[in-house]
Amino acid sequence: MSELPYSYDAPVSQALFDRASAVTPGGVNSPVRAFRAVGGTPRFMVSGTGPYLTDADGREYVDLVCSWGPMILGHAHPEVIAAVQEAVSRGTSFGTPGEGEVALAEEMVARIEPLEEVRLVSSGTEATMSAIRLARGFTRRTKVIKFAGCYHGHVDSLLAAAGSGVATFALPDTPGVTGAQAGDTIVLPYNDLEAVQEAFHRHPGEIACVITEASPGNMGVVPPLPGFNQGLKDACQNNGALFISDEVMTGFRTSRAGWYGIDGVRPDLMTFGKVMGGGFPAAAFGGRADIMAHLAPAGPVYQAGTLSGNPVATAAGLAQLRLLDDAAYARIDDVSTRIQSLVSEALAKEGVAHTLQSASNMFSVFFTDRPVRDYDDARAQESFRYTAFFHSLLANGVYLPPSSFESWFVSTAHDDQAVQRIADALPAAARAAAEATAA
Ligand SMILES: *Cc1c(COP(=O)(O)O)cnc(C)c1O
Repeated sequence: MSELPYSYDAPVSQALFDRASAVTPGGVNSPVRAFRAVGGTPRFMVSGTGPYLTDADGREYVDLVCSWGPMILGHAHPEVIAAVQEAVSRGTSFGTPGEGEVALAEEMVARIEPLEEVRLVSSGTEATMSAIRLARGFTRRTKVIKFAGCYHGHVDSLLAAAGSGVATFALPDTPGVTGAQAGDTIVLPYNDLEAVQEAFHRHPGEIACVITEASPGNMGVVPPLPGFNQGLKDACQNNGALFISDEVMTGFRTSRAGWYGIDGVRPDLMTFGKVMGGGFPAAAFGGRADIMAHLAPAGPVYQAGTLSGNPVATAAGLAQLRLLDDAAYARIDDVSTRIQSLVSEALAKEGVAHTLQSASNMFSVFFTDRPVRDYDDARAQESFRYTAFFHSLLANGVYLPPSSFESWFVSTAHDDQAVQRIADALPAAARAAAEATAA
């Protein structure tokens, strides 16, 4: 086999990036897209079909990002596209209630037992922001516990040790968030129940809620240790606080009932996004009916949205969820396991120290030989090896997240041919990772 290329030019993407950079900060509309953690030119994509993306230079990639999770049926799934076209043909927004949003809420409530009522919003950020407002309004308390390395969207009060894009750029904190906003947030190490007990002890009657990613994927994949989520739930219950499980990433991805379907720990409130929107801006928060009853117009806690429950977005989300039956999840879990084995074998063959971690079909590789249980562990990895690994795969037609602090995602569309393309590209990437040196 001839040597595969390590990198290549992307002149059309580069020209688009130059244009973008003249009119948009950093040339992107969401920071991690800019490739700053790995360097090089971000690829501007023009189309997607099944497990593949095609960029503006005409190169095709096996997509292991899947729009950061939503495209769980692959790109341009015919039934989702048909549902969208049908919805669009009837008009795109009415600013009134409509049947589509009811049907989507019914589908969600039917899948997740503790989800008694939901309110639809347009982004995961809006969902977590609103859930926290509701928790504070319901408990009449101010403080929020979150965990280092968990990302809950760019909510002011939650942008402390927030993983993902923030981790990538190592921002200790972000300008624009006031001391008062951050001051009510208690940031604790992930998977550390003792720290949670201690925080409740130090702030009696002050903590409104604990928010956690149901199984974190924004510092790479770092699943909860056995008993951790239950311990959080118990600590909340014993101290009059609410337990909020952020399932924006895991919801309807890790099983038909998301992470709740795997660990069975009942949250008081939950948040959703990504998969439930079918590639459109639809998200939600919900949970116990007695808490949701505090939300306007039923109750005093205000929350609203011009495009909430948008008919096109809800049609896409509903079409996608209806296709996600047990067989679909079995297929995704199977292809995920196969890709994980291929990655691990390729790296082991080149003697690269690594730890592959998974949570159902979400997974990521850490360039360290130690298990990663929290954000400090995640940051201790040799990220420079990921950079080399990433660029080699990119050059050979495999698109990974452009940061070592992200989950990888697969879909029902990742078939044998897509897996074979990954397998073919891995040996060179593993060699690049082995040969990489710290900058
Ligand atoms: C993506 C994500 C969010 C934010 O969702 P947006 O739609 O990007 O605002 C919140 N929480 C988690 C766990 C996420 O993965």
